Amino acid sequence: MGPIVTPGIESLRPYEAGKPLEELARELGITDAVKLASNENPYGPSPRALEAARAALSEVHRYPDAAAHRLRHRLAEHHGISADEIVHGNGSNELIELLVRTFTTAAHHLVYAAPSFVVYQSAALVHGVSATAVPLRDETHDLDAMLAAIRPETRLVFVANPNNPTGTHVGREALGRFLRAVPESVIVAVDEAYVEFADAPDFSNALELRSLRENLVVLRTFSKAYALAGLRVGYAVAPRRIVDYLGRVRAPFNVSLVAQAAAVAALGDREHLERSVAATCAERARLAERLTALGVAVTPSQANFIYFDVDRDARVVYERLLALGVIVRAFAPLPTKLRLTVGTPRENERALAALAEVLG
Ligand SMILES: *Cc1c(COP(=O)(O)O)cnc(C)c1O
Repeated sequence: MGPIVTPGIESLRPYEAGKPLEELARELGITDAVKLASNENPYGPSPRALEAARAALSEVHRYPDAAAHRLRHRLAEHHGISADEIVHGNGSNELIELLVRTFTTAAHHLVYAAPSFVVYQSAALVHGVSATAVPLRDETHDLDAMLAAIRPETRLVFVANPNNPTGTHVGREALGRFLRAVPESVIVAVDEAYVEFADAPDFSNALELRSLRENLVVLRTFSKAYALAGLRVGYAVAPRRIVDYLGRVRAPFNVSLVAQAAAVAALGDREHLERSVAATCAERARLAERLTALGVAVTPSQANFIYFDVDRDARVVYERLLALGVIVRAFAPLPTKLRLTVGTPRENERALAALAEVLG
């Protein structure tokens, strides 16, 4: 039988998510494991978000608001922009895919960094769009090289800032220069999934740089700092023209009624957000110090995870940590690197003790 899919889909492997706790319990009988693999927020969402989600359950015989009117207006108020500059998504994952689907064809090309978020690559493969993965330089986006990789047929460039899995960032000046230099015909998508955790003095979120170029899309999510990963809600801030096209391609009921309600309520609880971000940033600093003391090379992080080099087979370290009930993240193309999500102090202690044991 001949091929029934495109070569891009043929070459894809299913997304390898962080190992679920249940799977570890099933496979190794470990029931008290800590999962520090998916950059989730261990402090959980605002109680107000949970209450709103519970209240919304009584309405689930109805379809959600296809236009997510309340959520988009609340976000518009939050950012001081207009609601018609916002598109809601089933997590920012959906928006990444939607950007590729809406603005590219097989005749086009896109650019992203490597290593970075794998969904840029998988979206390109699924849609048969050629892509250039530009290697990081000093674990950071090499914006000059990304600019040089842009061709006449390039339609989209993804910049994760801070980057996943490295936690590194590009500063205000470099990003500003890049946004001005990229040709007008290209959409620059700055993926800010971890923006709430970025506190470097030279960090600037891309919403502050929107005046520098027309075709700029800023991706945000409720999955990380807002701790609503399980509900799947994210959004894009973009010029009206781009929002309009995305709105034509988007599935009408892409964000559930429960998720919309929870996200609106979460936005109203600044204090909860600030508390868990502050706790995470404090633990991030402590973890980095302790990991360094264990002799591993830590990459300074602006996100809620730490990327480090164990200078030996990371897969072996990963498996031994699993056996000790600590789930971290390893990456096939990065044979000596691991990524550890910043957990609660107790979870971090458990990870540190396991790492100390494994690394000898
Ligand atoms: C976690 C993450 C996202 C968010 O994905 P959601 O679909 O919103 O849960 C987006 N981009 C990057 C780089 C991420 O690490």
